[in-house]
Amino acid sequence: MRCEIIAVGTELLMGQTTNTNARDIARELSSLGVGVYYQAVVGDNEERLADVFRQALSRADLIILTGGLGPTEDDITRETVARVLELPLEKNKAWEEKLEKFFARFKRPMVAMNLRQTMVPQGGRLFHNDRGTAPGIYLEREGKLIILLPGPPREMLPMFKEQVIPLLREKLRDQGNLGVLQSKVLRVFGLGESAMAEMIQPLLENQDNPTLAPLAKGAEVHLRITAHSSTPEEAEELIERKAEEVRAILGDYIYGEDEEDLEYAVAKLLWEKGKTLALAESCSGGLLSHRLTNIPDSSKYFLAGLVTYSNEAKINILGVNPELIASLGAVSNEVAREMASGVRRVCHADIGLGITGIAGPGGETPGKPVGLTYIALESDRFQFSNRYEFWGDRQDVKQRATQTALNLLRLYLLGKLKAK
Ligand code: AMP
Ligand code: MG
Repeated sequence: MRCEIIAVGTELLMGQTTNTNARDIARELSSLGVGVYYQAVVGDNEERLADVFRQALSRADLIILTGGLGPTEDDITRETVARVLELPLEKNKAWEEKLEKFFARFKRPMVAMNLRQTMVPQGGRLFHNDRGTAPGIYLEREGKLIILLPGPPREMLPMFKEQVIPLLREKLRDQGNLGVLQSKVLRVFGLGESAMAEMIQPLLENQDNPTLAPLAKGAEVHLRITAHSSTPEEAEELIERKAEEVRAILGDYIYGEDEEDLEYAVAKLLWEKGKTLALAESCSGGLLSHRLTNIPDSSKYFLAGLVTYSNEAKINILGVNPELIASLGAVSNEVAREMASGVRRVCHADIGLGITGIAGPGGETPGKPVGLTYIALESDRFQFSNRYEFWGDRQDVKQRATQTALNLLRLYLLGKLKAK
């Protein structure tokens, strides 16, 4: 099945919005073994959209349009598709009632413009949208599938995963075309891309099915394992066998799979071990607290995250010894240790963690470059602290500091962190 994705919106052409929808759709389609042959971006212009859509009809079996389903004048996807296919637009009563309820619930008036979103090209089937007012639309024409999806990614992606993918899977099965191209990502922290590649070199050299692809991702490396097969079970088995070979080499450098990020890995371990955590953050500005509290149910283990940015806050809230700050500076191993133990004591946590560093671009002093960061971890009869130098701009330093701190927590909870 040849697929073409058309993203509609002038903001995409102008570079004001990144076309994440095409990326996300293509990624999801690979799980069905559907090949994306073309991706197009076109502005909110009826003639040009009609052209692009006609061209897609001439060369693809599955055409997915995203964007331009909004209620305003410039959103023209629905009308243009109907015009090219020579289909009248018909009102969908069920969607109209749904919209009436939606607006009543949020005490907003429903205006005539919103009624455009209840119009569907004749024969079209709807995809529900619990996150917005535009339904998705699905049409079939001479064996070709045409799918219209809303533009906002938080509406588009769940709709695609929950409703479009199952429908496509069914169609492909009926056609006897349901191959699977399945992937698993092993997430690695603590090794650079080339260092990891060197360790798994024999596996990289002799790859066929599954294939192995390393990918640098910010402060971490992802290793994608992709298998082709006729059934998902067989693909899964091929992937799992390869993953085992990789795990045997990379061990604890692998912290998670697929969507599981480092904060998820730490949250899971804290939860399993029944440990509580309190953080004292300086240069990371609360980012570590933010990341850990992104995980649902974090209240079960996350007691507090204090952003003790000034010296006074470190002294008055955490009880850091002012003489240490005066003699060694706030960015020092000793202060990081006192931050970790202070926050642990104040919050009655099992584990205390402190981060202090220089996020830059200013603040450099002799012997203390931008990016210098100390991270300390304390628990009952256990102390660890270490010096790091992270590179990059402010955001990079914050990201890398929190990534490293999360990995320290992970290793500690696995019993793999040596006191220091
Ligand atoms: P629309 O459905 O055209 O009204 O789009 C609504 C909003 O969705 C736009 O303002 C964009 O912020 C976003 N959006 C539209 N198309 C895309 C796309 N292809 N990728 C990411 N965001 C998009
Ligand atoms: Mg638009």
